Amino acid sequence: MYNLKDNNYNVNVRQDEPKLKLWTSAGLMLTYNCPAACKFCYYNCNPQKKGLMNIETAISAWQSLKDLAGDSAKIHLTGGEPFVYWEHLQELLKKANKMQLGKIDVVETNAYWAQGQTQIRERLNFLAEHNVKRLKISYDPFHAEFIDYEKVKRLADIAMEILGPDRCQVRWQEYLDNPIDMQNLSEKEKQAQYIATLKKYPCRFTGRAGSDLAQQFADKRPEQLEDQNCKKNFLSAKGVHIDPFGNVFSGVCSGIIVGNINQKSLAQIWQDFNPTKMDFFCVLFNSGPVGLLQKAVKSGYRKRRLYVDKCHMCTDLTQFFFDNGLLRPIIGPVQYYT
Ligand code: SF4
Ligand code: SF4
Repeated sequence: MYNLKDNNYNVNVRQDEPKLKLWTSAGLMLTYNCPAACKFCYYNCNPQKKGLMNIETAISAWQSLKDLAGDSAKIHLTGGEPFVYWEHLQELLKKANKMQLGKIDVVETNAYWAQGQTQIRERLNFLAEHNVKRLKISYDPFHAEFIDYEKVKRLADIAMEILGPDRCQVRWQEYLDNPIDMQNLSEKEKQAQYIATLKKYPCRFTGRAGSDLAQQFADKRPEQLEDQNCKKNFLSAKGVHIDPFGNVFSGVCSGIIVGNINQKSLAQIWQDFNPTKMDFFCVLFNSGPVGLLQKAVKSGYRKRRLYVDKCHMCTDLTQFFFDNGLLRPIIGPVQYYT
C-alpha cells in the first residue's frame, strides 16, 4: 500500500493543506457497448459502440489498485453493459478467482439479457460463486425507455432469491415498485418524466447528459461559474474509471484522460498525478472550465448563454476540443465523444 507522500503533488504541499487522496476504487468499464442509450449516460454508451477490455488489462488494473490501496481496494465491473460480453466476464472472474485477487465489490447491469429463468439462475449462481459481493441493477425512467420492465423485475426477483437482499441492489427500487411505461409515451411526456426523475435523483451533466438533457436545466450564466475550480474534485476523488482501452478518468470526469494503464501502471499514474504541473489539468484545478473558455472561444467555440453547472460547461468544451482535434490525447477517446 502506498502513502500519501508517494504522490508528486502531495510532496510539495504544506502539511495543513488538502492532499490528493489515494485512489481506492476502480470501475473497470469492460465496454462502451450497451443495448440501451440512456439520455443521461455519463459515458455516452449505445449499441453501436465498440471495444472490449482485454483480460490482461483488467487484471493488471486490479492488481495495481491492490498495490496502491491494499485491503481498501474496491473493484466494480461496469460498462456500457458488461453482460453483452458474458463469456468474457466469466473468464475475467475465473482468472481473478484463480489469482486470489479478492472480491468484486459490484457488477452492474441493466437486465437487458434477463429473458429465461434458467439462464438467469446459471449466471447469478456463477457470480455468487466467483467472489461478486453485489449485483446492481439499474432501473429508472431513463433505462425504462430501452429495457423491458418484465426483464428487470424477473432479474431482481431471482437475484433476491439467489443472492439475498444484501447482495442485490436495484437503483432505483421506487421505479421497480411503480413502473412508468416510458416506451409508450410521447416525446413530451418522456421529457416530463426525465425532469421529474432528475429533480428527485440529480445526475451529473457529463457524457450524453451534457447535451439535450442539460438544456432543460441550464440556468447559470458563465460568469456565475467563475469561482468554481476543480481542485477539490481532483484531490478528493476516491477512485477512477478505466475504459476498455486502458484510459483512466479521475472521479466523475469522464472523457478527460489522466493516463493509460497500457503505458503505465495505475499505481504509477496515481504517483505521477500532479494537476498543478500538467497544463490542461492545471487550468481546471485552479480556475475550473471557465479558465478554458477564452482559448476555446478563440478557436471558434460558441459560448452558451446558460449552463447547468461547471461540469456541463466542461462537457460542452471538451466535446468542442475533441471535434476540433484539440488537446489530444487528454481529450478522448473516440468511443466516448462520437
Ligand atoms: S444502461 Fe448504463 S451504460 Fe447503458 S446507456 Fe444506460 S446508463 Fe449508459
Ligand atoms: S468541471 Fe470537468 S474537470 Fe471539473 S469536476 Fe466537472 S467534469 Fe471534472
